[in-house]
Amino acid sequence: MSEATPPENNGRNTENSSSLEAAAEHNGEALIGDAHVQATDDIEAAPPGQAETHQEPIHAEDYPKEGMHIPHPGSVDAVFDCTIIGGGPTGLYAAFYAGMREMSVKIIDSLGELGGQVSALYPEKFIFDVAGFPKIKGKDFIVGCVEQGLQFGPTVCLGEKVEGLEKQADGTFLLTTDKYQHRTKTVIIAAGVGAFAPRKLPDAPELDALEGECLFYFVKDLETFRNKKLLIVGGGDSAMDWAMGLEPIAENITLIHRRDKWRAHEDSVNKVLRSSVDVRVFHEVKNVEHGNNAIKSVTIFNNKTKEETTLDIDTLVMCLGFIANLGPIRSWGLEIVEGGIAVDSTMATSIPGVYAAGDVVRYNGKLNLIATGFGEAAIAANYCKNFIDPTSRIFPGHSSEKSE
Ligand SMILES: Cc1cc2nc3c(=O)[nH]c(=O)nc-3n(C[C@H](O)[C@H](O)[C@H](O)COP(=O)(O)OP(=O)(O)OC[C@H]3O[C@@H](n4cnc5c(N)ncnc54)[C@H](O)[C@@H]3O)c2cc1C
Repeated sequence: MSEATPPENNGRNTENSSSLEAAAEHNGEALIGDAHVQATDDIEAAPPGQAETHQEPIHAEDYPKEGMHIPHPGSVDAVFDCTIIGGGPTGLYAAFYAGMREMSVKIIDSLGELGGQVSALYPEKFIFDVAGFPKIKGKDFIVGCVEQGLQFGPTVCLGEKVEGLEKQADGTFLLTTDKYQHRTKTVIIAAGVGAFAPRKLPDAPELDALEGECLFYFVKDLETFRNKKLLIVGGGDSAMDWAMGLEPIAENITLIHRRDKWRAHEDSVNKVLRSSVDVRVFHEVKNVEHGNNAIKSVTIFNNKTKEETTLDIDTLVMCLGFIANLGPIRSWGLEIVEGGIAVDSTMATSIPGVYAAGDVVRYNGKLNLIATGFGEAAIAANYCKNFIDPTSRIFPGHSSEKSE
């Protein structure tokens, strides 16, 4: 507890936040898009809860939505032609393509929603480099991916994390999740950077109760922040983007960063500096005073002068990056290279019948882009088809040659 924190309050000494942001410059960190992500091989290395997804599993009554079939015990026993691990852009496109090749398809994702990194990390940001869309908002892009990905009616299992993959004597695979077992003839691993979660303030588990109420790691809906007194912590693009996006909505915004050097694009920083946002460099969070599920104030300190300031804040947005790991995928006997799954030009992994695509794969020249993930997904799906039925053509012809 910091000296500035009255012992009787619910305040949290968050001095460690300095080491948090400092750690963001260490090895093992990666930029995913413009998000700062720590890739870790060791699930135990991250504090509990941080190596897991941050999303709650959805309840079956929330789904199915049109085109989705929620699994039930009967369907769990059925052997699918192709099971896709990961419902991000790559997994959704693989589901579309495998469906077009008339395979029975299942998607499993540990998150409670489809869309992978785009839905979870930057739904409000514009994407400029997806072919066919000069500019499209993340969430609008995912609406299209979901519509396309589910058009052949795959089974979708959300809130289920795949923990085990075993080849069976009959040549099929048994996938074990934290809830069920799934059987499949082929697998496409489209697990992105693995299960990922935002960096949190260390040793502050009681702040978890505020998450989604007045403490946020993602900005999903700008309206949540209307008339709020907001503190944004971080110096990357997310911090800048949310500051600019929320400036007309929040009552006021303070943005603090531990250094005077920014990870964000210069242009974004300049926009924020010219705005009404109160920007304070060399500042870090010292203490979050809270009670009854609400933030009462936040004390920050100048890491040069040690001067402390208590701010009248009711909402905190932490943009300190993310922790991601492949987790159990590492133990499935796949060849792992540079933190990802090694594939050949057919997207085959080292286990026959198991293919991979998207951010999770590694090959010479690999780029972690949505566009490359789409191409890899199409290749993987076509080779899955040929794996199941070696008499089938790998190249199916053009979709435009099909009738509607
Ligand atoms: C802030 C930001 C901005 C970006 N901007 C762009 C951009 O402008 N253009 C661009 O091309 N790319 C951009 N990217 C990168 C792009 O989002 C990724 O390349 C893309 O999301 C990769 O898609 P994917 O489906 O391979 O993986 P992901 O989107 O990561 O999806 C993987 C899914 O697999 C699930 N999963 C993982 N492990 C398991 C498991 N064991 N069991 C069940 N489910 C599991 C995860 O929960 C996740 O939903 C950006 C990324 C970020 C973070």
